[in-house]
Amino acid sequence: MRKTIFLLCWILLSGISASAQASQKWAVVLHGGAGVIERRNMDPKTEAAYRASLQAALQKAADTLDKGGSALDAVEAAIRMMEDDPLFNAGRGAVFTAAGKNELDAAIMDGSNLKAGAVAGVTRTRHPISLARAVMEKSPHVMLIGAGADEFAAEHGLEMVDPSFFFTERRWQAMVRELQKEGKPIPPRPAGAPPAPDKPASEIEPPNAHKFGTVGVVALDKQGNIAAGTSTGGLTAKMWGRVGDSPIIGAGTYADNRSCAVSGTGTGEYFIRLTVARTICALVQYKGMGLQAAADEVIQHQLTEMRGDGGIIAIDKQGDMVWSFNTPGMYRARLAEGGKPEIEMYKDQP
Ligand code: ASP
Repeated sequence: MRKTIFLLCWILLSGISASAQASQKWAVVLHGGAGVIERRNMDPKTEAAYRASLQAALQKAADTLDKGGSALDAVEAAIRMMEDDPLFNAGRGAVFTAAGKNELDAAIMDGSNLKAGAVAGVTRTRHPISLARAVMEKSPHVMLIGAGADEFAAEHGLEMVDPSFFFTERRWQAMVRELQKEGKPIPPRPAGAPPAPDKPASEIEPPNAHKFGTVGVVALDKQGNIAAGTSTGGLTAKMWGRVGDSPIIGAGTYADNRSCAVSGTGTGEYFIRLTVARTICALVQYKGMGLQAAADEVIQHQLTEMRGDGGIIAIDKQGDMVWSFNTPGMYRARLAEGGKPEIEMYKDQP
C-alpha cells in the first residue's frame, strides 16, 4: 500500500515537473553592433537591408528554439548566418587590421554548466562561432588563438576558406580612411581581393558609417537553459594581434543560468576593463537587481563614466529580454515564443 502511494506521488510529481518544463517559453535577443547609427545618415535601402538581415537571423534562432533546439544551437545558428552576411563585422564583412588582414574573434557560453569556448585572431575558419563551440566541446581548453585555432578547426572538419573570402570593399575603404586619419601607411590590398573599383571611397563607405557591426545572440530554450555568443572582426585598423572583449569570457560574452546571458558590442578595451558581461550577471545574482537595472547600471553609468561606448543584449531564465546602449544606435532584435518580433536600430525607437 505504502509503495503504491509512493509510486502514485512520484508519477504525479514527475508529471507536474514535465509539464512545467514543457511550458517553458523560448526567447531570443540579438545584436548586429552598436555605433553611429542615425536616421539622418541612413538611406531607406540600407535600412531595409539591415532590417531584413536582422529579421532573418532572428527567425533562424526562433525556428531552432521552436523545434526544441538548445539555446546553444540557436545562438550558433543565428551567428553563423550573420557571419556570412557582409553587412556585419563578423566572418565575411569583418573589418581590417592596420596590416590589411581580417583577424576574427568569437566566443560561446552555455549557461547550464558554465562551459565556454573562445577563439581569437583566426584568419581561415569560415565560421568562428562554430570553432568557439568546437573548442568548448572538443578540447580541454576555453580559448585558442591564431594559427593553432585555425589548425584545430581544420582538424575537426570545420569549413576552411582563403583569407580573401572575408574581404569586402567597404570595410577595406573604412580601414584606408582610418589609417589616413591617423597618418599611418596603407597596406597593399590582400592577395585574392578584387581589383580596386574606380568609385570614390566615400560612395562605397560613407564616413562614420558601420564603425561597429559585431554580432551577438542570447537565447533561452524550452528546457530552461540560457546561452550567449558573440562574433566579430574587432575594431577597424586595430593593431595586428589585438584581441577585443568579444572572445573574453566575462567581458563581451557570458552566460549562467543562475543570473543571465549577455553579449556586448562596443570599444572592447572598456568592456574588458569593466568585465561588462559578468558584472551585469553578478549584479543580478548577488545584488538581486532586475536585468534591465543591472544592464543600465553597467552601460549607462560605469561604461559611460569611463567614456567607453557600446551596448549589450541580455536574457534570463524568466525570459526577460533587455538591451542597453550609450551610442546613437544599435542594431538589435528580439522575439519570445508567441510574440511579435521587435527590430530596432536607433536610440529613439520605437
Ligand atoms: N567589441 C568589439 C571589439 O572591441 C568591437 C565591436 O563590438 O564593434 O573587438
